[in-house]
Amino acid sequence: MGVQEPVNATAAYSGRGLVFEPPEAFRKRAFISSMEQYRELYERSIKDPEGFWREQAQRITWFEPFHTVKNTSFDPSNLYIRWFEGGKLNAAYNCIDRHLEKRADQVAFYWEPDNPDEEGKAITYRQLYEEVCRLANVLKKHGVKKGDRVTIYLPMIPEAIYAMLACARIGAIHSVVFAGFSPDSLADRILDGEATYLITADEGLRAGRRVPLKRNADQALERCPDVKTVLVVRRTGGDINWVEGRDRWYHEEIQTVSAECPPEVMDAEDPLFFLYTSGSTGKPKGVVHTTGGYLVYASLTHQFVFDYHEGDIYWCAADIGWITGHSYIVYGPLANGVTEVLFEGTPTYPDPSRIWQVVDKYQVNILYTSPTAIRALMREGDEWVKKTSRKSLRLLGTVGEPINPEAWLWYYRVVGEERCPIVDTWWQTETGGIMITPLPGATPLKPGSATLPFFGVQPAIVDNDGNILEGTADGMLVILDSWPGQMRTVYRAHDRFVQTYFTRFPGKYFTGDGARRDEDGYYWIVGRVDDVINVSGHRLGTAEIESALVLHEAVAEAAVVGYPHEIKGQGIYAFVTLKAGYAASDQLRQELIQHVRKVLGPIFTIDLLQFTPALPKTRSGKIMRRILRKIAANEYQDLGDTSTLADPSVVEELVQNRLNR
Ligand code: ATP
Ligand code: MG
Repeated sequence: MGVQEPVNATAAYSGRGLVFEPPEAFRKRAFISSMEQYRELYERSIKDPEGFWREQAQRITWFEPFHTVKNTSFDPSNLYIRWFEGGKLNAAYNCIDRHLEKRADQVAFYWEPDNPDEEGKAITYRQLYEEVCRLANVLKKHGVKKGDRVTIYLPMIPEAIYAMLACARIGAIHSVVFAGFSPDSLADRILDGEATYLITADEGLRAGRRVPLKRNADQALERCPDVKTVLVVRRTGGDINWVEGRDRWYHEEIQTVSAECPPEVMDAEDPLFFLYTSGSTGKPKGVVHTTGGYLVYASLTHQFVFDYHEGDIYWCAADIGWITGHSYIVYGPLANGVTEVLFEGTPTYPDPSRIWQVVDKYQVNILYTSPTAIRALMREGDEWVKKTSRKSLRLLGTVGEPINPEAWLWYYRVVGEERCPIVDTWWQTETGGIMITPLPGATPLKPGSATLPFFGVQPAIVDNDGNILEGTADGMLVILDSWPGQMRTVYRAHDRFVQTYFTRFPGKYFTGDGARRDEDGYYWIVGRVDDVINVSGHRLGTAEIESALVLHEAVAEAAVVGYPHEIKGQGIYAFVTLKAGYAASDQLRQELIQHVRKVLGPIFTIDLLQFTPALPKTRSGKIMRRILRKIAANEYQDLGDTSTLADPSVVEELVQNRLNR
């Protein structure tokens, strides 16, 4: 394996000096095993999208073939996005039925409970078929019809997968609400989606704590009179309130119906689900995905990005409440007939070895998780990792935020023992599937870069006026043409869809992210456009300042934002959490400021550096810079929507100790 050491410190913060070639053993069996092969196929996908996607769509079973591959326009005054028109299919059929002939007895997923002493489950494709059909019949019995909206508020238990696929089977549109959300957030999403049916559980279990899901649901439903039926899964057996006539036990209902339910024939452009974005930047949007294009895209990206081969054990450690769970726990992998792990718990419970113990228990080959989880585990020290085997691991993946090169290298060296390529995958709820990513058997990796576009994806970097920048560039990331997995609209707010994504740069899809492209054409996501700081006319990416901070041995995590500064225009404000064993002091503060100057250059002088025990995060684990920006600007009275925060008490602490007064 070719590893070049960095030439200087600046290269190290960004990983720009480091290049990791795919290990030979990996390359040998990979679907895409060289850059030539990648380039050839990529070029074809761009030059002849119709031919390319017509071919790729054959991986899905269609009840009736489509007549038109692509029919799309990004013109904001006449916007439409349609793929595989005329095609008829069913997503649940593709994820289950078509596998039965070959894999009825193959495990579809292993369910690993929160508590390692509790017994898990192994669900075969035949069992999956029966469970999904039964639940589909229960929904029908309760009057749910094609096009109706069903809200799913479930923890990471098998029934969550059954529920999504049961909806898909009968053509109902599911809207999954993350089980960590409050009653108010749940109510907002039920109302916005006009749902009439709710599936929840008595309680959830996370890191040994009980989450009162039914109680939350009861409270939410006070505001949602249109929900007539609540189906309740018994997970813990805890005491719950019961509303006669409205609430029904899942385990009782499925006994009353048959284990056969014919799949509804769906149009390629019929909605499959909608899902609200994480809420890092503002009011969550109901992102609508349709059936045909989404499924083709989720399935293709899952196979190529994770180089998934028959027999591999795959584990995506995201929650089904996020798009990553939808595309890479449910639809992509199951359409591909995988054996996967469904994990109820958290990476650090009962101790920080847990994630690696699960890897060993199921002999996981492919692991997909987030930078926030990696940083949390890194903070606990290497021993927790090293006392496990992890020999089964062949590929590692990350998604959700820019990964700091320091965390990338830790994942690569300590977790993967330099044997496993890392796929740093950039994408969004809106994109349905992975957009910018390495292909692990082909792409030389640079820590911190999501590298190159997936097939059929045309990213570009534009300046403020929308001019496309060529070569090495620094600006805003847009996508020039449609891809099958793209969202079709914002539920009940098509204007908002056009407004948010297509008006700033007419004719282009605007991602909201800032990015750089280096001399090899690699993309570096530098953070959201709103987060880019402008100091004395220099555009500074928050991601690189954070990466430089994390490079310091004392720093566990860092979040950097701009704030109004009389002289420089914007000043740099850093929020820093420390690793175990380090204490905050003025001396350390000065040391960190000097450290960043040394790594990145004197323009990167942090003006204010606040130590804090924790950073405010969304429930999906992303740092909420929007709130930090307010605190840094001393506008702490008006923090906007904080309902998607994981722990609101973190904010009070930050406000109290703010440095700009
Ligand atoms: P909201 O849209 O409600 O503000 P959100 O953008 O966090 O929330 P998601 O769709 O879950 O909701 O996240 C997509 C965003 O996450 C991207 O736009 C990007 O900013 C960030 N992101 C995801 N993956 C990566 C990655 N590999 N590298 C850098 N950033 C990433
Ligand atoms: Mg977003």
